Amino acid sequence: MHASLAIVGGGPAGMMAAIRAAEALGGGGRIILFDKNERLGRKIYLTGKGRCNLTNLRPWEEFAPHIHPNQRFLRQAFRAFSNEALIRFFEQDLGVPTVTLQGRRVYPASLVAGDVARALERRVRELGVDIRYRTSVGSLSELDGFDAVIIATGGKSYPVTGSTGDGYRLAAEAGHTITPTFPSETALHPRNYDPELSGLEMKKVGLHLYVDRTLVESEQGDFNFTGDGLESGIAYHLSRRAVWALTNGQQVDIVLDLKPALTEEQLQGRPLRSMLPKALAAPFLRAHPGLAASNLPAAVKSWKFPIDDYKGYDRAVVTAGGVSLQEIVPKTMASRLRPGLFFCGEVLDLDGDTGGYNLQIAFSTGALAGNSAAAYLLSLPR
Ligand SMILES: Cc1cc2nc3c(=O)[nH]c(=O)nc-3n(C[C@H](O)[C@H](O)[C@H](O)COP(=O)(O)OP(=O)(O)OC[C@H]3O[C@@H](n4cnc5c(N)ncnc54)[C@H](O)[C@@H]3O)c2cc1C
Repeated sequence: MHASLAIVGGGPAGMMAAIRAAEALGGGGRIILFDKNERLGRKIYLTGKGRCNLTNLRPWEEFAPHIHPNQRFLRQAFRAFSNEALIRFFEQDLGVPTVTLQGRRVYPASLVAGDVARALERRVRELGVDIRYRTSVGSLSELDGFDAVIIATGGKSYPVTGSTGDGYRLAAEAGHTITPTFPSETALHPRNYDPELSGLEMKKVGLHLYVDRTLVESEQGDFNFTGDGLESGIAYHLSRRAVWALTNGQQVDIVLDLKPALTEEQLQGRPLRSMLPKALAAPFLRAHPGLAASNLPAAVKSWKFPIDDYKGYDRAVVTAGGVSLQEIVPKTMASRLRPGLFFCGEVLDLDGDTGGYNLQIAFSTGALAGNSAAAYLLSLPR
């Protein structure tokens, strides 16, 4: 009798786990991959605005600060399957050439996210993994006959893609603690939001996040005003702490610095039109009624947006919180509570900033879970 492995969830983490487990078992085991959808990796098709930002090429020391809440937990999985190894895997094993663009973000050279999803799914099939499409696993007890189980169900953001938080329930069945979840990398909505701001792209500006009037985080770079508020880029990076504070009933303010490279003194005497894009002038003046010329530099450097809401799981790029890392072995992704149970991807209490970090988390932890599950199966008495 062959040892058998069930993988719940065919996103990037589950597919990577299936590939590594199948390679390690070399046909000596039965692997069944369950996914709710009619094709695998449905969320991948949406990633990177349809281009799929596969990973980020920064070295670990620069990569790690973009991982939350516990960068140390990821270190061993990243060492075992790094960003550079991921690129080699795509180029050499899957035949998907890559390109590195601004901010060391790596994409498929075609800039077509579907190429990534299809190449992974093809490899899973080539390796003889038995894929059960349109099959939702509702309880761990449905998998009782399997020798090992990998949970790769993702978080609960963009639930239309199949990621509806089922893994938290499955993990809890095995006794695991679920760290409270909240949407992250999501739009922040200001009180009395001026609709005329929507559609404006802000370049090379500064954003400061205040929680209960205390400065907690600052970022410089780009973001957009959209119909939902402050979105993408540096606004997303601040959203993790901002959403957490809002869910705790704290006061959240974002302060926009339109000229981060210059001091108020250096801006003194300059005309308004030299300090902001034309389309921003009317909303800026509406937000600062009766502004005297002498106060203009201070207003340009500290335009305050009190935040009263945020976009929920329907629109959040990632789910923060999840299966507690305390109960997972970082070297193997194995459950400390139940032998033969493994976790990978966004279902874990592990998330990254936008910029390719979340997919690298999924691929690194997926590869490690797949290898570890195979090693576990091979260690079982026959
Ligand atoms: C709009 C958008 C853009 C993004 N862009 C990027 C980007 O460019 N770069 C980046 O690094 N990250 C990006 N991300 C984040 C990234 O896509 C996710 O972090 C990543 O997909 C998580 O991988 P996963 O395999 O853990 O989970 P998921 O991709 O969520 O996959 C989970 C799978 O499990 C299946 N499933 C769930 N429950 C069950 C069940 N009970 N039974 C059977 N199957 C089940 C689902 O159908 C799904 O296929 C983006 C996210 C969004 C929403």
